[in-house]
Amino acid sequence: MTKLSMHEQLPFDEDATASPVSTGDLPRPDEVRAMVTEAYERYRANVDGHVADYIPVLAKASPSWFGISVVGVSGKSFEIGDVATTFSIQSVSKPFVFALVCDAIGYEEARQRLGVNSTGFPFDSLMAVELNVDRTMNPLVNAGAMAATSLAPGATAAEKWERIRDGLSRFAGRELSVDEEVYVSESATNLRNQGIAHLLESYGRLYFDPDQATDIYTRQCSLGVTVHDLAVMAATLANGGVNPLTGEEVVGRGVCRRVLAVMATAGLYELSGDWLYEIGVPGKSGVSGGIVTVSPGKGSLATFSPPLDPAGNSVRGQLATKYLAERLGLNLFSSAAASRD
Ligand code: GLU
Repeated sequence: MTKLSMHEQLPFDEDATASPVSTGDLPRPDEVRAMVTEAYERYRANVDGHVADYIPVLAKASPSWFGISVVGVSGKSFEIGDVATTFSIQSVSKPFVFALVCDAIGYEEARQRLGVNSTGFPFDSLMAVELNVDRTMNPLVNAGAMAATSLAPGATAAEKWERIRDGLSRFAGRELSVDEEVYVSESATNLRNQGIAHLLESYGRLYFDPDQATDIYTRQCSLGVTVHDLAVMAATLANGGVNPLTGEEVVGRGVCRRVLAVMATAGLYELSGDWLYEIGVPGKSGVSGGIVTVSPGKGSLATFSPPLDPAGNSVRGQLATKYLAERLGLNLFSSAAASRD
């Protein structure tokens, strides 16, 4: 499979489009509506990528599903496409569980116990080159994510699971529940994750029973969400940890900005650098086709479309997010020259 280049697929020249800069607010609701509709129409016919099938039930997803949701920190939202379709949250759960763990044990201790770097290797490490994909030690790849899950408060597996389910529900502003079909399918095929958990335990880097930690992690990934749920969860991270719909403080401000820092460096698997280069906002993708992006102080964008690129990131989701990040003024690195009088 050829690696998709977002740049090749996006021939417009942002220097010529008067992109909004990264400060200020989202554009007016009617402008957001027009831009999101345009992005949806522009990419819905794209047929690149493949639906994940390494978890058997995920292969049932329709390659044509495509939904986009934008939620501002004011709570105003706009969405289009397959917005009522429920899918499993998968890896998009990871930054939110990390946030809950930081809130519970402190972000400094979380950093010590989980790591927050892209590779975890020194700058001149040959090992980093050899092992980058599997040995990155931060809470957004499986090893660190399972370690984060194992740190969820609670003495028993049931207590830890309830803490995670409840916390993710507070991010979403509604009660989330497990998609049992996904949970059963993933539990039957997650030998690799079980292996990672046992390996971590051997290094003293897992903080609960490895089989139970893997099970809680699998439930966490199987929580059913819509693209709107993802956008509300991400908007909470854009709003200093306060859910803009319910008004509830889910995590503290200091936690929020540190979670976003890790999302910026590691949210899109091994293409996180390309993502930051092109799109310029913290993001997180998952194998069922969800992507969240967070624009601090402005709002969030969530996309859902199951066909993935070889790294496991939704193809339509990346294209629509790139297009909208330019037009909605999300890119954190975007500036324009100040006027000189
Ligand atoms: N539950 C999936 C796994 O552990 C999540 C993968 C993903 O979304 O990247 O393989």
